[in-house]
Amino acid sequence: MTRVVVSGAAGRMGETVCAAVDAAQDLELSGRADPTLDVGLERLLADADVVVDFTTPEAASDNVLACVAAGVHVVVGTTGFDLEQLNAAVERERRDGANVLVAPNFAIGAVLMMQLAAQAARQLSEVEIVELHHDGKLDAPSGTAKRTAKLIREAGGNVHEPIHSVRLPGLGAHQEVILGGQGETLTIRHDSVDRDSFMPGVLLAIRRVEELPDPFTVGLEKLF
Ligand code: NAP
Repeated sequence: MTRVVVSGAAGRMGETVCAAVDAAQDLELSGRADPTLDVGLERLLADADVVVDFTTPEAASDNVLACVAAGVHVVVGTTGFDLEQLNAAVERERRDGANVLVAPNFAIGAVLMMQLAAQAARQLSEVEIVELHHDGKLDAPSGTAKRTAKLIREAGGNVHEPIHSVRLPGLGAHQEVILGGQGETLTIRHDSVDRDSFMPGVLLAIRRVEELPDPFTVGLEKLF
């Protein structure tokens, strides 16, 4: 049994992750950390093989560093903080082979959307990104949109700025990548209509984070 602690356990994503871990035969939910529950992460680390973090941009980096310093693997879904700074800090702090996997989006379809968009941008290089989320989302543009833009640019595409961020009640998590060419456009769209859409990816990450060859990995596709 892999022992899993969820950080941000009282949040929208955290509650869904707790239920998914609880329902998995090979995983044990060994703790829930959240200020709302009055439980700090540090005191749960001794009971964790893997921590899953869905908190806030302000909290996530410190949480990750506490985990790696304790030799505990971390799966991070939180978005809106500086990944390069965190990568450098993880290298300094990590003990006992602890790995970090950060995924701006755990939905399998969203990962495929990013990969397809990067592939398409090799032929249709002018690109606009429109991301649409519920009005409780703190960061803009979304981590998924920033990651999509990075992958498209690495493939030689030209992502127009600004990335368009829509925040409205009634929305879940959605993104369109629109690629334009001579007399044609191609639109690649992904919709997460339920937070359950992220759970297969989160469970895959929990089960496989310890196998990763690098201590700091960005993108769920590294596990495909
Ligand atoms: P949320 O409902 O606001 O939940 C965040 C929770 O974290 C809150 O209960 C918050 O408590 C708690 N928290 C704050 N500081 C903490 C700390 N130091 N230690 C432990 N818990 C702490 O937000 P959400 O909608 O679940 O989203 C969480 C994050 O996941 C966001 O960054 C969002 O963009 C990201 N997200 C990622 C994916 C993906 O696939 N990667 C998918 C969806 C969302 P308080 O309310 O008391 O501050």
